[in-house]
Amino acid sequence: MSTNATTQTGLITGLHHVTAISSSAAKNVEFYAGILGLRMVKKTVNFDAPDVYHLYYGDELGNPGSIMTFFPFGQNIRSGRGGKGQSTYTQFSIPVDAVSYWVDRLGKFGVAIEKPFERLGETVIQFRDFDGLGLELVATDRDDRPGFSYGDIPLDKSIRGFFGSTMSVGKHEFTYDLLTKYMDYRLEEESENRYRLSVDGTPGTYVDLVDDPKEEHAREGGGTVHHVAFATPTDASQLEIRELLMKQGFHPTQVIDRQYFHSIYFREPNGILFEVATNPPGFSVDEAVEELGTNLKLPAQYEAYREKLEGILEPISPPDFVKA
Ligand code: ZN
Repeated sequence: MSTNATTQTGLITGLHHVTAISSSAAKNVEFYAGILGLRMVKKTVNFDAPDVYHLYYGDELGNPGSIMTFFPFGQNIRSGRGGKGQSTYTQFSIPVDAVSYWVDRLGKFGVAIEKPFERLGETVIQFRDFDGLGLELVATDRDDRPGFSYGDIPLDKSIRGFFGSTMSVGKHEFTYDLLTKYMDYRLEEESENRYRLSVDGTPGTYVDLVDDPKEEHAREGGGTVHHVAFATPTDASQLEIRELLMKQGFHPTQVIDRQYFHSIYFREPNGILFEVATNPPGFSVDEAVEELGTNLKLPAQYEAYREKLEGILEPISPPDFVKA
């Protein structure tokens, strides 16, 4: 299916995480842990604004390619607007025989869904979270990951992790070149204005570039994706890709320690904020695997303010209403 033979460097292995902006932390954990059945793998704060949570969801360990994260800024946040220059849909992977299960489940919790439709040979359920964030469940028989289920969701119906990220762009060529020439992506399929790229053709790595030149520019705010992070195996490979990007005229930041991974950030030519994040050390670096997400974890610089922060942040924990 691949039509272009680029040399792959192994510096990028797929998606690492997607970070979005939300309003209510309580509703956020209810939706992503409670309804979608993801594991809350870390409850920490925004390292640049510690009076706001940074919530991480994923599979059991929060493996790269499964991690959805949120900054819930509270009910007064200005809503964002979808459009070009933005990741407009985050796609999760489900088994092929789980479509009717999820249609029923989302309906039961009052989530408005579009009628499932076929796209590039796979069934897609499209919906939005309570802030309007675009989400999709893509049914595929090509996903070997075991998945994770919280509450009453049968494991054989559960979300496996990401399928991919749909990015709305003005001119796909620019982002396409960046991803295929320097970030190990290659064209897998195309249909009308959708260009599906992947590193190795497996769910968890896809980027769908959708050319929407007439679309309005996106506006960041509640219910929009803040950035998309790509996975790199090690600190050394991160420095290598950083060097490579700089040589091509991109402006990646210095390496920033995010406690659970190390990050560089840069804006791609259509305006979407990209990050490259290391796979290690992962979420068990400061919490035992069985306790992931249960304690408020603070980076060292904020430990001194723990009591104050605990007074500001609304208490949250995964709901038990999922027993249905
Ligand atoms: Zn990030």
